[in-house]
Amino acid sequence: KETEEKFEFQTEVSRLMKLIINSLYKTREIFLRELISNASDAIDKIRFLSLTDPNALKSNSHLNITIWTDPVNKVLTITDSGIGMTRQQLKENLGTIAKSGTSEFLNALEDKKADMNLIGQFGVGFYSVFLVADKVVVTTKHNDDDQYVWESQAINDFTIAKDPRGNTLGRGTQIKLHFKDDAVSFLEDDSIRNLILKYSEFINFPIWLWTKKTETIPIEDTDEIEKKDDDDDLKDDSEEPKIEDAPEDDKKSEPKTKTIEIPGWELMNTQKPIWTRDPKNVTDIEYENFYTSFSKDSNPPLSWTHFKAEGEVDFKAIVYIPSRAPDNLFQKVQDFARNVKLFVKRVFITDEFLDFVPKYLAFIKAIIDADDLPLNVSRETLQQHRALQLIKKRIVKKTLELIADLKNNDEEKYNKFLKEFGTSLKVGAIEDNDNRKKIAHLLKFPSSYKGSNWTTIDDYISRMKKDQDKMYFVTGSSVEEVEKSPFIEGFVARGYEVLYMVEPIDEMLVQHMPGHGGKMFQNIAKGNIDLDKDKDFEETSKLKFKFVKLTEWMLTILTDQVEKITISSRLTTSPCAVVANEWGWTGNMEKIMAAQPF
Ligand code: ADP
Ligand code: MG
Repeated sequence: KETEEKFEFQTEVSRLMKLIINSLYKTREIFLRELISNASDAIDKIRFLSLTDPNALKSNSHLNITIWTDPVNKVLTITDSGIGMTRQQLKENLGTIAKSGTSEFLNALEDKKADMNLIGQFGVGFYSVFLVADKVVVTTKHNDDDQYVWESQAINDFTIAKDPRGNTLGRGTQIKLHFKDDAVSFLEDDSIRNLILKYSEFINFPIWLWTKKTETIPIEDTDEIEKKDDDDDLKDDSEEPKIEDAPEDDKKSEPKTKTIEIPGWELMNTQKPIWTRDPKNVTDIEYENFYTSFSKDSNPPLSWTHFKAEGEVDFKAIVYIPSRAPDNLFQKVQDFARNVKLFVKRVFITDEFLDFVPKYLAFIKAIIDADDLPLNVSRETLQQHRALQLIKKRIVKKTLELIADLKNNDEEKYNKFLKEFGTSLKVGAIEDNDNRKKIAHLLKFPSSYKGSNWTTIDDYISRMKKDQDKMYFVTGSSVEEVEKSPFIEGFVARGYEVLYMVEPIDEMLVQHMPGHGGKMFQNIAKGNIDLDKDKDFEETSKLKFKFVKLTEWMLTILTDQVEKITISSRLTTSPCAVVANEWGWTGNMEKIMAAQPF
């Protein structure tokens, strides 16, 4: 152990560990999900590397995950043949570098905005092992370094030493959890089995569990039964099974007459990716479970579309809309990078594209598996590939179709969607020139006709009066506010419907989308609008004449504040209103601009 070195956990990490080890969190089982997901990520990485470096897999050609429990010694061992870690990576990844997620997670826990279940979302899932273990030993071998052993009893420090056994792993990582006494029940055969089944369903690599398999054998073969029972006794000596013995294929036995228990490696998952299956044969529950397994979102998705594109470019994809918008929807694009996972012929390539979909659709979570992309190029080269550009376009198209589908077929769900992502759609209408028209059909606004029941612009148009050539809207900061606005009374009194644009982004929206369906928007707080044109003309002229002294006098007093004062038919009960000119900012826009930090 002469090479052993001691390291302090970075302060935040140490705080987190203390919290985890003392946690009374009920569902401690999530440690296994985090371990399996790390193992799977590590195998993804070496497989990706092997696309350009054929020698990468020489150190260990099997790509799998094995799990072995030893209830007698209270140990669980999970081994993967992934990329492994160099000494430096081991030190940084498991303790000395605090990712930004560490303190974010700590704060969220403190504020009760997150619970332990969300640990993986904050990029510190590994530490969840200390929910169930009080000592953890990580042995790892990376192609570029020797085999090292990391060991910790949590809280303050950990050690790293060169493995005196030499390179026993070939390549990959083996993690041994020494269980706390109150957590040993996880190690029971049925318990661990159910846990693995729960968390491995959508892992793309075989997961083998060392179990006592029940096997059916012919009843007359009594010698055989005794022999197998002997084997069983051997297992209780807790001699660690050899990983190389893990078979490559699942061998299914045929039902016969008598069952006995035989210890051996048992395959826990089928690894057939859900997106390669026929949508007809995939249940909603499977789609939902798959979503939670890859998205790091613990809420079920709102909706999804699973499709196969053929023609210009061939790919399969599942696009999900989450049920909740993240808090920082418009702030940190990089947080959304992980939302789109790209596979090429079932091999995971990357989830690090920053702009796979336009910003306004960054909330979608998608799995894309392409046939036409070259496997052996860098991610950067891939970015430029024409097929990828086509895929991006199709994903946007399909996503907008999915949203339209919700709008047309499930009003309740659609309103939920708008509550979470309505603003995103408006950003889309502003920024996406190609799809603005499509998006315009999807937008909804409150209006004087429907009150709190929002209306689409198309529905508004269908209710427009015969003589009405503009779509009237009023802006403000809430429906309650604009309902009381003097601007709308004359319109509503005459039976015109007024759209309520009460989101800060709305004024910008109409600047970029001045009309829809052949009609133009008209802000009723702006410019000169003649309602009941001809009928009122004579009357208004009379009034103008009658009050000319008053208006002239008002203008002399307000000469610095207003441009003109006029008699109008647009009010009914309010005596007067301040109106912006056609090109000026409305009061609402002034308010929005004043609130901008720049
Ligand atoms: P995340 O998986 O979100 O990065 P974790 O806390 O689960 O966060 O893991 C931290 C890091 O430790 C990983 O990013 C990875 O670099 C490394 N790591 C963890 N487990 C393994 C493993 N089985 N093989 C290789 N590297 C691993
Ligand atoms: Mg992880």
